[in-house]
Amino acid sequence: MLAAVFKRPREVEIERVEVPEPKPDEVLVRVLYNGICGTDLRVWEGTHWMVEGWPLEPGAYGHESVGEVASVGSRVEGLKAGDKVVGFGGKSFAQYSLAKDPILVADSALERLALVSPLSNALNIASLVGPRPGGKVLVMGQGTIGLFVTKLLSERGVEVIATDVVDRRLRLSKKFGAKAYDARDPEYAAKIVEENGEIESVVECAGSERTLAPACDVVAPAGTIVIYGCQQTMPLPYKPLRRKGVRIEFGTASTNPRTGIDYTLLAVRMLQRDSLYAEDVISEKITLQELPEVLAGFDRERWIKVVVEPNRE
Ligand SMILES: [Zn+2]
Repeated sequence: MLAAVFKRPREVEIERVEVPEPKPDEVLVRVLYNGICGTDLRVWEGTHWMVEGWPLEPGAYGHESVGEVASVGSRVEGLKAGDKVVGFGGKSFAQYSLAKDPILVADSALERLALVSPLSNALNIASLVGPRPGGKVLVMGQGTIGLFVTKLLSERGVEVIATDVVDRRLRLSKKFGAKAYDARDPEYAAKIVEENGEIESVVECAGSERTLAPACDVVAPAGTIVIYGCQQTMPLPYKPLRRKGVRIEFGTASTNPRTGIDYTLLAVRMLQRDSLYAEDVISEKITLQELPEVLAGFDRERWIKVVVEPNRE
């Protein structure tokens, strides 16, 4: 089979490797769709916290995958060849991938199920924010997860203020229910406070260390900042945090660490019921062969979610 191999930072090659063999409790899945995540872009750069050595194993870390069961291990029950599944392993920038306990899904809307992982993360973030209807939340960064957080909160009657540095994402954030501010404007944090007053929660989904200082300026006394995207060591401005008594939390992936609730199944159901503007979020579909070039020239002005189809020629 063909698989992408991340050799070292900024170097990915498509190689022919052995199809992996499922263990008794594993399922071999033919990958139909796999979304490129912000994680993958950081892995490509060599700056992601999860990377512990190079090269990565074939297909890693591609994890936003939808596929078709090819074969099942001897102890697997309830799944057979041809079944469609989501929620499997982390090596899906490849034609085949191994899965443990994947989620069986109906044979429809498969493409948008590549958004299950970002939507489950957004549901978890929304649960961490614990928003009040009528309350105000600032969502910094309007990539796939940020846009979904915006949509989920605004549908619950929360006033969402969103920031980004890309025009297309700012436009979409309005469609998803936010009042949008351009973070390229050096005065944006001051404008947000001036025009909206106190904001009780701030969510960082931009993956940028530059968001922390404005987040501390904007958040209300006794407010919460949820840091989700950025991963570097960040100096905390003590004064505003201390003066206001701010709580800082770090988001996990799809499972709320306090309640233990995993939002993956809910994300599957929501995406099967409703497109959730998936057509706006999935901006490009590519073959596996195109992946190295797309990672090297990832165009944030044009693309939000790019989905790889590893078995398309
Ligand atoms: Zn992801």
